[in-house]
Amino acid sequence: MSPQKSIQGRARQIITSYHGPRLRIMEVCGTHTHEIFRLGLRQLLPPDIDLISGPGCPVCVTPIRFIDEAIYLACSEHVTICTFGDLVRVPGTNMNLGEARAKGAKVQVVYTPLDAITYAQEHPDEQIVFLSVGFETTTPASCLAVRRAKNAELKNFMLLTANKTMDAAYLAMAKSCDAYLYPGHVCAITGTRKLHMLAKKNDISGAVAGFTANELLTALAVIIKNVQKKRPFLINAYPRVVREEGNPAAQKLTSTYMQPCDAEWRGLGTMTGSGMKLRPEYAAFDARRRFSIPDLISHANPACRCGEILQGKCQPTDCPLYGKVCTPDHPVGACMVSREGTCSAYYQYSSGA
Ligand code: SF4
Repeated sequence: MSPQKSIQGRARQIITSYHGPRLRIMEVCGTHTHEIFRLGLRQLLPPDIDLISGPGCPVCVTPIRFIDEAIYLACSEHVTICTFGDLVRVPGTNMNLGEARAKGAKVQVVYTPLDAITYAQEHPDEQIVFLSVGFETTTPASCLAVRRAKNAELKNFMLLTANKTMDAAYLAMAKSCDAYLYPGHVCAITGTRKLHMLAKKNDISGAVAGFTANELLTALAVIIKNVQKKRPFLINAYPRVVREEGNPAAQKLTSTYMQPCDAEWRGLGTMTGSGMKLRPEYAAFDARRRFSIPDLISHANPACRCGEILQGKCQPTDCPLYGKVCTPDHPVGACMVSREGTCSAYYQYSSGA
């Protein structure tokens, strides 16, 4: 047997043989949500372990107001919204960006923020607004785009920011679980120092996990073993990628162009210091400063339970719209849009799909 198979076997045994007090483990990474479903790991879990999907999908936690702001700008004269494809399908209060485009709004799908720079260079008569959404992993790319735009003296490129950092979410959700399955790629950027502090100062436990079956099983087994010792812990179970110091170059890029701000999270409300916005010296690249966006009154479909799902309070199948009115082809809420959204992952991989 290969060493990898034997590690996997041992981890499986630890997980499946767990009997004890109910254990709630929360994954806060859309890729983990998707991979755990795809690999069928939920089926391995004994009844005493709940694996909860938390607020780890950046599209899912983006508030409806942000989509409404983007639609407002897309409908403005000489403004083109550049965005990743997923955001086009996220419902706003009255419509999504795709529907706005069908009514004449200018919405362009791009694959990277740098594509939006190219688009801005090719369309000098248009004001190009890139929808900057995501966690620590994607924020540096938006900052890199601002650097490129500044160096190229581009006057028609801006960001509409809804960037977020995970630390505040870990604190906000701490009572919802006994331990976190921390997101490997976020931790590759941030490092593990803050997570050690969360364990030490806030009694928040967890293990950093990679994305293969072996890495996910190992991290789950590590959590189960350590929870039983009844002491807060942080274990890096993804050491081939995650270092204590993280990625200093990416951290520097972000801190050069952005600063912390309060941010609204779908389902969690506004959390102090949990967002990132452009620094005042880069105001020329900030769509909120360049345009007067009115204070929009936004609201989601009242039947959609995305907010509770993102807090681990209910499952997609508890939503009356799940699989009937709301499907990946016709998403009613943000959690059904991205492949990494909890409702979408349930729909793709559950037997009821
Ligand atoms: Fe919202 Fe659809 Fe999920 Fe229901 S199934 S919570 S409507 S995304």
